[in-house]
Amino acid sequence: MQKTNLLLLKYGEIALKGLNRPRFEQKLIDNINSALAPLGKFSVKKAQSTIYVEALDEGIDMYEAVERLKKVFGIVNICPAARCEKGMDSIKETAARCVLDMDIDGKSFKVETKREDKRFPLKSPEISREVGGAILRAVNKDGRNIRVDVHDPDILVQVEIRDDAYIVADIISGAGGMPVGTGGRAALLLSGGIDSPVAGWMISKRGVALDAVYFHSPPYTSERAKDKVVDLAKILSAYTRGIRLYVVPFTDIQLDIIDNCPKNYLTVIMRRIMMRIAERIAVSNKDMALITGESIGQVASQTMEALYCTNSAVNLPVFRPCIGMDKEEITAISKKIGAYETSIQPYEDCCTIFVPKHPKTKPRLDEITEAEKSLTNIDEMIEKAIEDAEIIKV
Ligand code: ATP
Ligand code: MG
Repeated sequence: MQKTNLLLLKYGEIALKGLNRPRFEQKLIDNINSALAPLGKFSVKKAQSTIYVEALDEGIDMYEAVERLKKVFGIVNICPAARCEKGMDSIKETAARCVLDMDIDGKSFKVETKREDKRFPLKSPEISREVGGAILRAVNKDGRNIRVDVHDPDILVQVEIRDDAYIVADIISGAGGMPVGTGGRAALLLSGGIDSPVAGWMISKRGVALDAVYFHSPPYTSERAKDKVVDLAKILSAYTRGIRLYVVPFTDIQLDIIDNCPKNYLTVIMRRIMMRIAERIAVSNKDMALITGESIGQVASQTMEALYCTNSAVNLPVFRPCIGMDKEEITAISKKIGAYETSIQPYEDCCTIFVPKHPKTKPRLDEITEAEKSLTNIDEMIEKAIEDAEIIKV
């Protein structure tokens, strides 16, 4: 990336939003401002389907700014840019300086010009040709090698003639998706594993703000296990612009299930009660769906029959974006979003501490509802667990 204090951000899908477009753009700008605020003062403005982000303080770490912007959903490309006067001399000099800043030796390049300001005296091809010549001369003078390749260049240098002239020599991929907050809210059942953070990320990518619910069973699950979930929520929150994490005490309910229900149904019954609690929390936050990291057939509690039983415990829609993915595919996303190293830390989850040796892979809903009748106090216990939940703003 060239040294710069200016980034041009390109967004894709939002541009198609018709009358709603200003609302999407404003949300994106708000999210950009909140992502960058800890780094210093920035100006963030929109013009012609581009957002201009300019550092106003000296010494702002622009590499860190780019890293943060890569986590803002709605941004398709991040282009470090240089602005200069709209004269050929300064355009040529600035373009050459941008390219000299980069790792270019032995590479090929091409100059492309967009002339939005049609009053500019030279036409686009002439501008590109002159700027290309200036770059070649400057690089050669610097003792390095570069050549022109108009078909498949390593480096595309873009000259945009607008209110001023802008030079872009590098295009960094953004996260895509829609700005968080434009798609409502949902509650993620967040465990310490690989799948659920990925599931939350995928739904949030479509513009959905998240609450998260974690079921904690001390002393069977340790503080370390809880810290791990808080860490995962932090990693996610860089994308979701904050998360409200509910840590729900689950020990009493789990012991009640273990004492009163058939062994081979423990997991599914436990999952159904988790869903019921998460639904109550979701409704109180006006969340319109639940999200889980389930994937068909991954474990006994995720067969079609088990998913049917779990699903039947709630009325809200349950989004399971990993449902058709293999573990390798989920893992690849987990690594990409920076969650993997935390997810694989070996702290126990409450689901794993009392797993029955022979869980039913084809549970029957009628048998489950019958078994659940022996949980005589369950409504009060659910009430109490929600009341006692710790709420952590991440
Ligand atoms: P993960 O799916 O996060 O990798 P896992 O595969 O071990 O963990 P399972 O035990 O198969 O998870 O549970 C499936 C889903 O149920 C999880 O993806 C998560 O959404 C939810 N879940 C499981 N345990 C918990 C928990 N302790 N707190 C909150 N949600 C949970
Ligand atoms: Mg899983």
